[in-house]
Amino acid sequence: MQIPDPALVLLVGAAGSGKSTWAAEHYRPTEVVSSDALRALVGSGTADLDASNDAFEILDRVVTGRSRRGLTVVVDTLGLDAQRRAAWAALARSAGLPTVAVVFDTPAAVCRARNAARDRPVPASVLGTQLQRVRDVRTELEAEGWEVHVVGGEASEPSSLGSPASSSSTGSSAATTTPLPTMVKAAKTGAQPSPVLPSGAHGPRVMLQISRFPWGEHPLDWLRGIALAADEAGFAGLALMDHLIQIPQVGRAWDPIPEPWVTLGALAALPTDLLLGTLCTPATYRPAGIIAKAAATLDVLSGGRAFCGVGAGWWEREHSAFGVGFPSTTGRVDELDAAAETLRALWAPGTKAYNGERVSLPETTCYPRPVGSLPLIIGGGGEQRTLRIAATWGDACNVQGDLDVVRHKIDVLRRHCDEVGRPRDEVEVTVLDVAVVGSDRDDTWTRVERLRGRTKAAVYAARHHAGEVAAHRERHDRLFEAGVGTVFLALPDLAGARDVERVAALARR
Ligand code: GDP
Ligand code: MG
Repeated sequence: MQIPDPALVLLVGAAGSGKSTWAAEHYRPTEVVSSDALRALVGSGTADLDASNDAFEILDRVVTGRSRRGLTVVVDTLGLDAQRRAAWAALARSAGLPTVAVVFDTPAAVCRARNAARDRPVPASVLGTQLQRVRDVRTELEAEGWEVHVVGGEASEPSSLGSPASSSSTGSSAATTTPLPTMVKAAKTGAQPSPVLPSGAHGPRVMLQISRFPWGEHPLDWLRGIALAADEAGFAGLALMDHLIQIPQVGRAWDPIPEPWVTLGALAALPTDLLLGTLCTPATYRPAGIIAKAAATLDVLSGGRAFCGVGAGWWEREHSAFGVGFPSTTGRVDELDAAAETLRALWAPGTKAYNGERVSLPETTCYPRPVGSLPLIIGGGGEQRTLRIAATWGDACNVQGDLDVVRHKIDVLRRHCDEVGRPRDEVEVTVLDVAVVGSDRDDTWTRVERLRGRTKAAVYAARHHAGEVAAHRERHDRLFEAGVGTVFLALPDLAGARDVERVAALARR
């Protein structure tokens, strides 16, 4: 059972069918709005029917507010009032939220027994009517456009819904175990899946991308902790961001952001099997030959574990501050193109002169040489040129975005490969995935709230696929199925080795 998330989730069931219990098991308290709880808040208790109008007024306000913000809201009422349902559905739909009805098909005998055990039971005749209406409501819900899920009883089968609960058992536990829903992001129906690209000789893999360095007083200890934890967890490698000033998307300008090639040199000295590289080095910062030299040196020092991600660079401020030129977009992509070509020329065997498309070098004497073929990743999803550069010079291109976007980029890349006469499977697709990973629903949303800055919580959560480890793993599965070879996982709240351990289940594929 998979319930989209975020969504407006309407619970539908008789008194005692287990609605509130189910909601508490699967959602945060603040995500559930209950008419009973609100009756107790504005009236004398959950059964204070005189307080119903006030309670529903507040309930409607909560549904409105949460829907508008794109946040999940679980409506815990009987769910049998068609007019109210229509109003809530309209609110949710106008906010783009899926509308899900969860019907509690708990055996009548179980509901009656639970009702009887309550302080203020619902009159038997009222409960009888509720049970009857719950049986009939499913068709109405479907006609109203709700995505209907059924919980409890032997009710997974539609056919059993119409018949009265057959079980005469009042032993509640067997009859009412509720299957655990797996929350999934509302599935977007998008482009057709592209045929699978082979993900290179290595098979699907996950590397950790490090974009923040809250290393306190002991930078090297912090790095060592991260690297050893990543290796232990089974990550295939570490990629370092390359910026001169910490970027606003990640942290504050005065947060440390180390020079990556120096830092990778330190990581190379640690006893791990991790691949080590940049994601990405802007072609603007250093002459391409110097990037070639640094990466080749890293490859030698690490025993052939280096990779080199190069991009066009995008942030003017850091260029100005460091006295580095910042050409126009076209100029920067030109630089990327030339840099890729230069790297290829200098890493190639021999020392002969190179005369290429954009680059001419009187000699290509670059020692030490890379140990093996040093993978070159071209960063960026620019369809006209960047992916063309990747098809021409790259071992991989790195893109960002949801499955649909990634599929599209793969298609564009393949076209470029065809046009430049490059075998499609020679250019791997990698994805930078900045993900909020929580241990449970509450932890996930606490992280979102801490990280989101001024971005709306629902927007931030969607952008970073906020969720638990299992959901991220499934999402990565879908990326790999689409032909992605490597996922670079970045944690926006990476604080230390413990965070690497906490996402270890995402590392090994
Ligand atoms: P609601 O009236 O539909 O909100 O029902 P509640 O969630 O309040 O549940 C009524 C009673 O049934 C409570 O005492 C719960 O503890 C109990 N209950 C609910 N769901 C389950 C279940 O899945 N198994 C068992 N054994 N008891 C349950
Ligand atoms: Mg309840």
